This record gives sequence, C-alpha cells and structure tokens, in this order.
Amino acid sequence: MSRDPRYDVLFEPVKIGPVTAKNRFYQVPHCTGLGWVRPRMVAALRGMKAEGGWGVVCTEYCSIHPASDDLPHPYASLWDQGDIKAHTLMTDQVHEHGGLAGAELWVGGSSSANLFTNEVAMDVSSMPNAVGIPYQTRAMDKSDIRELRRWHREAALRAKAAGFDIVYVYATHHYLLSHFLSSKTNNRTDEYGGSLENRVRLVRELIEETKDAVGDKCAVAVRFSADEGGEGSGNPIIGEHREMIEMLAELPDLWDININDYHREMGVSRFVKEASLEAYMSYVKSITTKPVVTVGRFTSPDTMISQINRGIVDFIGAARPSIADPFLPKKIEEGRIDEIRECIGCNNCYVGDSKATPLRCTQNPTIGEEWRRGWHPEKIDPKGSDSTVLVIGSGPAGLEATRSLGNRGYNVLLAEADSHLGGRVSRECQLPGLSEWGRVRDYRTNQILKMPNVDIYLENRMTADDVMAMEADHILIATGAKWKANGQGNYNTQPLTEIGPADQVYTPDDIMAGHRQTGPTLIYDDDHYYMASVIAEVLRQKDLPVTLVTPESMVSSWGDMTSEQAQINRRLLEVGVEIITAHALVSYNGTEAQMECKYTGKLKPINVDAVVTVTMRTPDDDLFREIEQKMIENSDKKENYQPKSLTRIGDCEAPAIIAAAVFAGHRYARELDTEVDPDNRMKYDRVFYEDG
Ligand code: ADP
Ligand code: SF4
Repeated sequence: MSRDPRYDVLFEPVKIGPVTAKNRFYQVPHCTGLGWVRPRMVAALRGMKAEGGWGVVCTEYCSIHPASDDLPHPYASLWDQGDIKAHTLMTDQVHEHGGLAGAELWVGGSSSANLFTNEVAMDVSSMPNAVGIPYQTRAMDKSDIRELRRWHREAALRAKAAGFDIVYVYATHHYLLSHFLSSKTNNRTDEYGGSLENRVRLVRELIEETKDAVGDKCAVAVRFSADEGGEGSGNPIIGEHREMIEMLAELPDLWDININDYHREMGVSRFVKEASLEAYMSYVKSITTKPVVTVGRFTSPDTMISQINRGIVDFIGAARPSIADPFLPKKIEEGRIDEIRECIGCNNCYVGDSKATPLRCTQNPTIGEEWRRGWHPEKIDPKGSDSTVLVIGSGPAGLEATRSLGNRGYNVLLAEADSHLGGRVSRECQLPGLSEWGRVRDYRTNQILKMPNVDIYLENRMTADDVMAMEADHILIATGAKWKANGQGNYNTQPLTEIGPADQVYTPDDIMAGHRQTGPTLIYDDDHYYMASVIAEVLRQKDLPVTLVTPESMVSSWGDMTSEQAQINRRLLEVGVEIITAHALVSYNGTEAQMECKYTGKLKPINVDAVVTVTMRTPDDDLFREIEQKMIENSDKKENYQPKSLTRIGDCEAPAIIAAAVFAGHRYARELDTEVDPDNRMKYDRVFYEDG
C-alpha cells in the first residue's frame, strides 16, 4: 500500500539546531514506571518506538543530581557513569532505527522530597512539598543556584556522553524552574526574583550553559508552558508566558510547549478530546522561528497534517499515542491507516508512574514487555501446531486472543452470545464520555474480519454440550463477569442481609441495558474507579436526584492514579450529584437506605426510590466449570472427546480493568504451543551496579 500524498508533509526532515529529525513524529518525554530502576526494559521500549518510525524518542524526566529524587515514582537519572551506560542502551537502539534520542533533564524542587537519597530538596523559596509529603524545601541561596547550574551542565555533558542528540531544559509542570518563573511562587528580592527578566534569568542561564556545554553536537530543547493556568474551563489564561517565550524565543533549538494544568494536558478522553491544546498554541509559532512541538493525543493523520499545514506546530508530539501504537508513524508512512491502534485516552499507562510499576496499556499489551518477554507489537511467532481454538466470548479478552491467534495462523472459532462483538467494551463505550473506548473493539474487529482463518458465530450462547460437540483442540473461555446487586464488596465483605426489593436495586449492567429509575437514587460506590461516576451522569441526564455514597474519603479515588479524580469530582458537582464520603451502604428496604460512617459506625438514613450498587463483580465462569466437569466425566471413556486444553481468561477468571483482559488474551495467544516456565514467565530487569 502506498501512502496518501497528503500525508507526505509528516515525513519531511526537520532541522533542530545541529541535528535533523528524519520526520515530524516526536515522542515527547513520558514516564513509563521504569526509569533508572529498569534500564533494559525502558531501553527496549524506547527502541521499539524508533523502530516504529518515531523521528525523535525522549526519556522520561531525567534527574540531574541526587538532590532531585522522586522515588517511589520511577524517574530516569544521569548522575554517574552507571547512568551513562544504562542510557546508552536506549540511545543505541534509537540510533539503530534512524531516530534522535532526547534527554529531559529534570530538577524537581518542591515536588521531590528525596525520600530515596535523603538529600534536602531545594526550591526558589522555602515551601511545602507539593505532593503532601511533610517536608519543606530549603530556599536556594546564590551558592545553591551556582551549584544547580554546575549540576545541570555536568548532567548535559553526561547526556552527550550517553549519545543523546537533544538535551532539555525542563521549565514547566510545577517543577523547580517553573517556580522561578512564576510570580505566584517566586518572592525573591535578588536578581532571580521580581521583574520578569529576573524570574526568567535562571532558565536563560541554563539554556545558554547547556548550549555552551553540548551545543556542538546536541540540540537544546526547552519544555515550557504556553499559559499560566485556567483550571477547569479549558480556556487559556496566557498571562506572562507569551512575554517569557518572546524573551527567549530564539535561544533554544526547539520549543516543546505544553500547558500549566497537567491533568488537562494529559486528560482522559472522557473529559479532553484530541488536539485540545490548540487554543493555547495559537501564538507560539508566530514568535519564534525555532521548531515547535506539542501534544494532543493525536491519532488521526488528518488532524496531524491540519496542525502542520495551519502552522500550529512543526512536530506531532505524542506520549500516549506512541504507547498505544509504537508503529503509528510506520503505518501512516505505508498507507496502513486502518491498522493504527488508537489510544483510547483511559490513562491506565499513567498508573505505572503513579504506582511505581511498569506501565500497561489498554490497547497495546506488549508495551513494557519488549525486553522481559520479547514481545513485539507488530510481530508474533507463527502457530506451533495445526490446532483449532474455540474462543467463547468476544469482550476485550476474547477479541484480543482471537486477533493474536489469528495472526499466528491458528484456525479460530469465536462464539458470542450477543448480536455484536465487544462485550463490556461495547456496553461501556455507550456511557457518557467513553465513546473512544470503542476503539478497543474496533481495532481488533477490523483485523479479525479480514482473517480467513477466523470464523465468528454471533448470537450463539454456548452450553457445555455445544462446546463439547465442536471438538476443538483448545477451548478458551472469556465469558466475562456481572456486577453484584447485594452490596458485597470491599467494605461489606458479605452480602447485605437487608437489600431489596429486587426491582429497586440495580447494577451497572442493568443501567447499561437500559433500565431507568424514576425517582431519587442512591449510587453505592465500593469500586472507586470510573463506573459509579458515569452511572451518576446517566441518571442525572434523566434529571433524577442522585446521591453517590462511598466508603472512601473521596469519590473515584482510583481516578487519582489515572489523573482524572479531580475532573470526575468537578463533573459530579457540576451536574448536581450529592456526594457522601466515608460512608457505606448497610441496608435498604425499598424506601430507606442506611449508611454507616466508616469511622464512627454511626448510622445515617436517606430516603431513595432505588439503589445502584457498584461494588464488585461475579466471574461468569459457570460454562468453564461445566466443561471441566464434562472433561472429568469423559476421562474414563477413552474414546470420547477431550480438548488438549481448557483455559479461562479475563474477567471470567478474575474481574479487573479492560487492560488486564486484553493482556490476558494476548498472553494466551503468545503462549499457546510454546514452552513456558509457569513459575518464571519472563526475565527480570535489575539495576546495573556500577561504580564511578
Ligand atoms: P472480558 O472483559 O473478560 O473480555 P466481557 O464481559 O467484556 O469479558 O465479555 C464477555 C463476553 O462473553 C460477552 O460479550 C458475553 O456476551 C459473552 N458470553 C458470555 N457467556 C457466553 C456463552 N456461554 N456463549 C457465548 N458468549 C458468551
Ligand atoms: Fe492510551 Fe489508555 Fe494506552 Fe494510555 S493506557 S496509551 S491512555 S490506550
């Protein structure tokens, strides 16, 4: 296939100071939950991006000195020779595929309490730790500033020694340099405070010194915010930032521009859509001749060329789209647009940083697995036998298993009870704001429909007898799970003794199936992710009075890990949902619900016409158990059919997020007919211990 010539502009080389990017695809710095802690995993992940066609591939935030440490969040570091060696693993792989490698030098300031290194954190003034750790920073004096400049210069030299082509001065995202810039945080009375010129001084010095140190070989990029705030509304408040960028306009070799509100910049698709930073970017290119990059969860090549052709940016910056599809540039280049695995904007990748674990992606089960499992996002081994696989259930687990088994060349029979594919994804993408989640189904369905070795049987609710009659070699059960209606969950470890009548107690499954209440409704959330809040939105769209009750001290507490908690809370307040925290539902009799205070046990009544319980799910594993039983019965009768394997995956094994179901489906397909050590399914990356 050849590419549409309209997209040629995306493949033009762009000069960045002393280096040239081969195209306009720029993987901006993004965290991975790997950092210095897992050097080989992160190097393979970045190398895969370069193989997939990204012209520039950057590190995550990369500490210049032990006085800027963010553990448990796994950052990168450039502190010593060991770090140089570790980064070389990445830069070599990026270069092998013709990409440029960028290092985002980082100083945390009040965001880092240095819990790992025990160094005292420093910032523009003595200020509280920004993430609630009970430590304050030391106010930087002149000698601290001199030291910082030396650290930055030396880290830049180490970056160059490690083979990086682009070195960043990172002056945004509420880290140290942004505190020097902002009049809200900079109260200094010396030459680094007061006037705009003084507040910009340190950033200017660092740009100049980095250029002086490494500018012969490396481009110097500046990451900067286009605005100074404007929470919530989405309308830019540019403030002094335009003037600041004007003052420094021609100094760096590249401007990597984002916005002050990190949660909007990388907002979930429920609240923030593609190319959402455009309004903020309006002026940037008019005040600098240097190349400009920004992000916007770009997955559509038409949006990309529109941004380039209208002069909004020079590079298409991406973090999440490059995680969901490391081969996005190659697919556009080769005219394989319909094969793009589009990011759904769920931010489960961000959980890796939040929880200090290797990232996972809902769309791309291979991310982070390049080194430790040897998984490639676009390549998979051919089948290991001529076996036929019967897959039952076409949710994310069954669909991904079918797609990957089909790619391996197996004959796959996919049976689905519903009249359409997609399972929970098809249901949930109908909920307010979640339409992009349908991409999980669409990407897989598009491929499966083209596979001659995959047969799909819709409206086929399989019984154990049906399954046994098909005599497939392998049986894969991916039948999902159902929400419980009895109040049982994390808080109430047993079903409630009083909860009813049944026609006034609903679950998310009922709401998604179209059941609608008519009066005041209590939503009991002991799940703590998005579901209770979207159900609340559905009911508010019908103008029903809604009270959301949770035993946690905030609504959708897990949403903090995906950076959407504040937006969810705001949305609920905006649409008029009453929120009661730190309370659990303990009974409901059809008119009155009793809630128990989590701290005191005191009961609080509320009169409602209906209750929706969002607590936990029951695995739908009856079919699995029945087949297991039939296999036992058949085992005495040698002539009767026995499958080579019976396996359950996804929610019917253990209900979890969609990403886990996709991963389970992919792993099943990869491992079929291979030798796997069940005790050690992968390699373990461990830190290089290297002195000096
Ligand atoms: P997962 O997240 O694990 O993929 P889902 O709940 O999304 O699970 O999908 C399970 C799918 O399995 C649903 O589409 C459901 O209709 C289907 N299913 C459940 N039981 C059967 C059955 N006995 N025969 C065929 N399909 C089934
Ligand atoms: Fe996109 Fe979700 Fe994957 Fe992150 S986890 S890259 S948001 S699909």
